[in-house]
Amino acid sequence: MKGSSHLTIGAAAGLGAAVYLHTDPFSTVSLVGLGALSGLAPDLDVNGKLSNRITVSKKWLITFFSAAGILLSIYSYLEKSGFMQSAGIAIGLCLLLLPRLFIKQRTMLFLTGVFLFYIGWQTNVVWVMLLSVFIAVSSFLSHRTLTHSIIGVACFGFIGWHFEQSVHLEGSFITAVAGYASHLVADMKVWPVNKRGVKWFLPFFQKEF
Ligand SMILES: [Zn+2]
Repeated sequence: MKGSSHLTIGAAAGLGAAVYLHTDPFSTVSLVGLGALSGLAPDLDVNGKLSNRITVSKKWLITFFSAAGILLSIYSYLEKSGFMQSAGIAIGLCLLLLPRLFIKQRTMLFLTGVFLFYIGWQTNVVWVMLLSVFIAVSSFLSHRTLTHSIIGVACFGFIGWHFEQSVHLEGSFITAVAGYASHLVADMKVWPVNKRGVKWFLPFFQKEF
């Protein structure tokens, strides 16, 4: 199913939670937004779909590595001698050249997770740290595996629960779970638009539904 459909269904799940809990208008809008994001989250494992949008810009990162490489080369040339000088210059040149060749979408997604973890750790916000781990792990998984299973729902729900404790937005937990689960239901084989189904019980059973 397309990303826009997942977004819409997730948003509807958020709205449902808001109606159910009789939330105020601001919370309602927040829950709809949260539901939309939760509805997209399982596809973080898709190369270049949602992952395209949330990663730190590739260009920016290449620029960062290049600058670091140039600085390291100059520093080694001026301040070091012998083996350290050659090694410093060599590493600097690698930093300058290699990212251009090897930085892929998946790498970017992983680095975004690492970057986010650092922010969460520095600010001591648990849900940001958990979300960053979720993103980093997703970058290694193949499409429609663990993110599209009950374990994925549970992990995302755990993040949603911490989010609710932290920002005190009532209904965040339910919305995160409902939005995320809505994605998996929409991906199931019972719908004619889907060629592949969802392996709800990975890694224990391989059966596709
Ligand atoms: Zn999916």
